[in-house]
Amino acid sequence: MEGVILKPGKDKAVRNRHHWIFSGAVRDLPEFENGAVLPVRSAQGELLGHATFNRNSSIVGRMISFGKQAPEEALRESVERAVALRRRYFDPNTTNAFRLINAEGDHLPGFIADLYADVLVVQVGSLGMEKLKPFLLELLGAAVKPRSIYERSDLLSRREEGLPEFEGLLRGEPVGSVRVVEEGLPFWVDVVHSQKTGFYLDQREMRKLARVFAPGRRVLNAFSYTGAFSVYALKGGALCADAVDASESAIALAQENFELNGLPSNAGLFFVADVFQFLREPGLDYDFLILDPPAFAKRKTDVVQACRGYKDINRLALQRVRRQGLVMTCSCSHFVDDGLFQKVVFQAAGEAGRRVRILQRHRQAFDHPVNIYHPETEYLKGLLLYVD
Ligand code: SAH
Repeated sequence: MEGVILKPGKDKAVRNRHHWIFSGAVRDLPEFENGAVLPVRSAQGELLGHATFNRNSSIVGRMISFGKQAPEEALRESVERAVALRRRYFDPNTTNAFRLINAEGDHLPGFIADLYADVLVVQVGSLGMEKLKPFLLELLGAAVKPRSIYERSDLLSRREEGLPEFEGLLRGEPVGSVRVVEEGLPFWVDVVHSQKTGFYLDQREMRKLARVFAPGRRVLNAFSYTGAFSVYALKGGALCADAVDASESAIALAQENFELNGLPSNAGLFFVADVFQFLREPGLDYDFLILDPPAFAKRKTDVVQACRGYKDINRLALQRVRRQGLVMTCSCSHFVDDGLFQKVVFQAAGEAGRRVRILQRHRQAFDHPVNIYHPETEYLKGLLLYVD
């Protein structure tokens, strides 16, 4: 029987269309070169699909097709469906920066592609996808015809896959800053010297919400990165929007984004500072605080420490926000789920001694779909709080 044979009873996850096969589920591995695509079979020999395999990784297999569908056919279909979903709901005149392929969320494990106007930025997380990259780029190139394709695979997780970190131009002309529009607002995205692939596309829905609740508010955009929340808030009618971030280059780009949007220089102050310290400064006068910190829990073992960080920052925000104020608080740690995050905010509210109501809940924007069969794709959550 050709392919990888799973242990009896260890085929349930794959039958449920989960993408990962852990080494403990495998009974027999044939001779193969790491990164190869192999058929996956139950202990009884039934074909369950195809996966890329890598002995070096604890996730030894990553399913790219299920059942009898040929792997190339499945990849083609997944790319086409991912592109079709975005085409259907994004008008490029209004929003031309979005996630085109969300890895397992679009049935393409370990492969991310973000489109910034006509520049495609890809991120490859596994050796299997590295080997399939030429095929995927061909499909994507034909579908969106980008001016350039740039790779931002500066992921520590690649080490376990035996892949070095990699950044560089894959196709087309050299790229630097790209001008995009999101919800009709222009932004500079630096796809080369930036965080993630350039822009926190996943927060689009939260930014829209910030715009709706902004009128008449004095806003503090904490962990501002390149100032996107500030621009939305000011365009929505905020009185002012100050930005704090630890990264000097992010703050510099935030200032350029103010200019690009025609906002006056007195619309907000910019601080290169640690938010934990900034929120302890005397004399803060804000009635809308936005907290969008980086993932405090990158691994499961970080959760306790991460919750301490989330509680501190939320307690500080809830203490400092003015009466009848708003706090928009987010967490992008997969391992801190909705329920746990709300508990942490509940404790922070108690310690701050404020009356707090949840007005809205949010999650990652729809171009970061969550695969119902692979819930690990869910990571971002946010609460909009009203503080009496
Ligand atoms: N809200 C942003 C994305 C924020 S990402 C947007 O919509 O675009 C998180 C940001 O937090 C990063 O820019 C990072 O530089 C910053 N950061 C991380 N730790 C910090 C700290 N302790 N104090 C201030 N900024 C911090």
